[in-house]
Amino acid sequence: MPNTNIDKIAALSAREILDARGYPTLEVLVVLESGRKAKASVSVGLQPSRFEAKDLHDGDRKRYQGRGVLLAANHINELIAPRLIGLPVNEQEKIDRLLVDLDGTANLRQLGANTITAVSLAVARAAAVSENKELFVYLAEHFQLTSPTIPVPLFNMFSGGSHADTNLDFQEFLLIPQSNSPAFTATTRESGAEKMIRAAADIFHALGKILREAGYDTDVGLEGGYAPDMDSSPKALDMILAAVIKAGYEPRVDFCLGLDIGSAQLYDENSKQYIFAIDNSYFSSQNLVDLYNEWLQRYPIIYLEDALSDDDWSAWRQATAALGDKLILAGDDLFAGSAERLRRGIAEQAANAIILKPNQIGTLTALVECAKLARRQHYQVIISHRGGETNDDFIVDLAVALNAQYLKAGSLSRGERVAKYNRLTEIASLIAGVR
Ligand code: PGA
Ligand code: ZN
Repeated sequence: MPNTNIDKIAALSAREILDARGYPTLEVLVVLESGRKAKASVSVGLQPSRFEAKDLHDGDRKRYQGRGVLLAANHINELIAPRLIGLPVNEQEKIDRLLVDLDGTANLRQLGANTITAVSLAVARAAAVSENKELFVYLAEHFQLTSPTIPVPLFNMFSGGSHADTNLDFQEFLLIPQSNSPAFTATTRESGAEKMIRAAADIFHALGKILREAGYDTDVGLEGGYAPDMDSSPKALDMILAAVIKAGYEPRVDFCLGLDIGSAQLYDENSKQYIFAIDNSYFSSQNLVDLYNEWLQRYPIIYLEDALSDDDWSAWRQATAALGDKLILAGDDLFAGSAERLRRGIAEQAANAIILKPNQIGTLTALVECAKLARRQHYQVIISHRGGETNDDFIVDLAVALNAQYLKAGSLSRGERVAKYNRLTEIASLIAGVR
């Protein structure tokens, strides 16, 4: 017997909004028959992997240098809305399948990954609203996930590569709280998440002071981390450690370090070399693994993302064999959020963690399936923001619902990044029952 109490979709519409960089992206509004409504917007990848689903942009050079999303909005208003109106809003899997079928291509280029993601996320949020549930609670129940947990945030301290106007080669220099440190034990006044975020904010400000005093620029990059010109990558790591100590914390005990190398951008296909411009050096994949190993001796590094190029499977295998028991080796461009590529990684024992970003893959259903596969195979899961973010904090609820080990949401500056941390502490309070 169909449940007649289930809220149905009454209207669905999209519009072009600006992301935090001032470039266009999509916002979708879902209105239900009950009159309840919800919105979601979609972030934009700065350096999308060549293997991920493809966003649709207008290509009209007269508007936003071709990056407009009017075609995508039109697809939602004209093509998708008529198919979704009248459907029960909690039939996420059915709706997601309908979106993928309507697109008809493997990489969603027809309607656009941004188009499909924006609809998929907005439908999920509307379903949560219709059931009067917090989004993370709804997602956990709907997808039959185990009890929600707070992920450890990976805080961005320096932004480089394509993410900032600096000579730093690597995309992100990350500060990683050690959740078992006594510094982050919850008290009646502060949750563990609040303590981690407060400590990271203090360290971010201490780092700003250290940089200013040493004559470096303290402007921030797109993900909110500092973005000065530096003379070497290890120098940036040294400065983060100095800031950890200055703020009253202990490296290794309270905080470790991580790097998003973004190495697909540093790899030269012809010479098969990785080129680190700032360090004036180039490496074969074997030499690069040796270099990482050397850094591990010198620094409390526990996380490397995109340490090797996105199709250099044999190097990933080598690196995982050599470093996999000491490090989280996360594949972002490598897996591109695709279960198919993750299956290859599992078969080849390449990497031991996966980055997931909603519009890499398009639908929420596909993302959850990929996360479940990762968990079954003991790959750690990192839910991540993108370079072109909006203030939407959907990924935080998603990370909590999925029991993701980590959440990568940027630095302790810029509203679109901080919005995620503010939602994380709110969820921590909700779970603790103090809100
Ligand atoms: P992206 O990078 O914008 O290219 O997805 C985000 C990240 O991996 O930090
Ligand atoms: Zn990345």
